Amino acid sequence: MRQINELNTSNRILMGPGPSDVHPRVLKAMSTPLVGHLDPEFLEVMDDIKQMTQQTLKTQNPLTFVVSAPGSAGMETCLVNLLEPGDEAVICIHGVFGTRLADIAERCGAKVIKVESEWGKPINPDDVKKALASCKPKLLAIVHAETSTGVLQPLEEISKLTKESGALLVVDAVTSYCGTDLRVDEWGIDALYSGSQKCLSAPPGLSPVTFSQAAIDVLDQRKTKVQSWFLDLTMVKNYWEGAKRAYHHTAPVSAMFAMRESLRLVLEEGLENRFKRHQQNHELLRDGLENLGFEFLVENAYRLPMLNAVKIPKGLDELAIRKQLLNEYNIEVGGGLGPFAGKIWRVGLMGESATINHVNMLLGALKAII
Ligand SMILES: *Cc1c(COP(=O)(O)O)cnc(C)c1O
Repeated sequence: MRQINELNTSNRILMGPGPSDVHPRVLKAMSTPLVGHLDPEFLEVMDDIKQMTQQTLKTQNPLTFVVSAPGSAGMETCLVNLLEPGDEAVICIHGVFGTRLADIAERCGAKVIKVESEWGKPINPDDVKKALASCKPKLLAIVHAETSTGVLQPLEEISKLTKESGALLVVDAVTSYCGTDLRVDEWGIDALYSGSQKCLSAPPGLSPVTFSQAAIDVLDQRKTKVQSWFLDLTMVKNYWEGAKRAYHHTAPVSAMFAMRESLRLVLEEGLENRFKRHQQNHELLRDGLENLGFEFLVENAYRLPMLNAVKIPKGLDELAIRKQLLNEYNIEVGGGLGPFAGKIWRVGLMGESATINHVNMLLGALKAII
C-alpha cells in the first residue's frame, strides 16, 4: 500500500475554462465552522444567497436558488422540470454544451428539433425562426457563452422569436454569469442555470438557477411526475421558500458559505465594473497573444471576454507547451474540445483570474517558452 500524505497541491494559476482562482475571503468563509443545514442561522445564509443571486441575475423571480450540484445539474434541473415525454423542444447547438442540452432533452423523452451553427459561430436567428415554425415547441434552449468555442450568443432577437412562438426560453449562463452583461427579466428568460466556478469565482459544485412565473405555470400543469427525485423543483422549492423550510437534502454548508462571500465580492465591485474588468483584460491578452502569432477562432463581434479561444501558431506543439506551462509555471490553460482538440487553447480570464497580473504572467511564460 502507498503511504498517503497530507494534501499538498501546487499553487496553480487557473486560466482555463473553470474553475477560476478564488479570493482569499472566499477560502476563509469556507473554513467557517459548520452549522446545521436547518439552523436558523443557515436559513439566513440561504436567504442572503437568494437575494444576491437575484441581484446579480437582474431578476425579481421569487424562484431563484442554488442547486447543490455543478452546472450540469442546473442544466438538468431546467430540462427535467419543464419537459415531459412527447413534448417538442428546440435546442440550439453551437458547441459542446448545446450538444449536452440536446442529450438531456432526449433523455426527458422530448422530441428534439436541433438548430445548429458551425462551431465558432453564433446561432442565426433566421434558423431559429424556421425551427420554431416547424413544430409546437414547449421550450427553446440555448447557450449564452459557449465555453467550448468562445462564442458570445446574442439573445434578445432569439428571445423575441421564442416568445412569439409561445415557447419558454431556457438559457445556459454558466460562463457568462458575473462576467458579461446578463439580464434575466429584461431579456425574457424563463429558466436559467449557471455555475459557481467560472466568473463568480466560487469553488465548483453549485449551480444558481432561476425560473419565471411562466415556467412555474408549466411545472404546475405537468401530467407526469418529474423523473428525477433530487432535481424535482416542486420539492426543492419548499426547502428554499416559505415558512416551513422542509428538509429535502443536506445542503453543502461550507460551499454555500463560500458562495455567499463570492456574491458579496461581486456586488462590492459592482456588476458593470466587473464586466469592464473582464473586457479590458481580454483586450490586453488578445494584443499579447496576437503578437505571439496566436489567432482568435471567433470573429470580434461575438468573442467572449472570459474565454479566449485561440488557434495555436504553426510549428508549435500545443500539448507540450501546455504541459510546460503547468509544470514549470504553474499556469493552467484549457485545451480544445471535440473537433478542436489539439487545435486550439481556451484561455480563461474568469472572475479572480481576470487581472492584469494573470495576463502578464501567461504572456511572460509563453515568451520564455516560445
Ligand atoms: C462549465 C459549463 C457547464 C457545466 O458546468 P459543470 O459545473 O462543469 O457541470 C455547462 N455549460 C457551460 C457553458 C459551461 O461552461
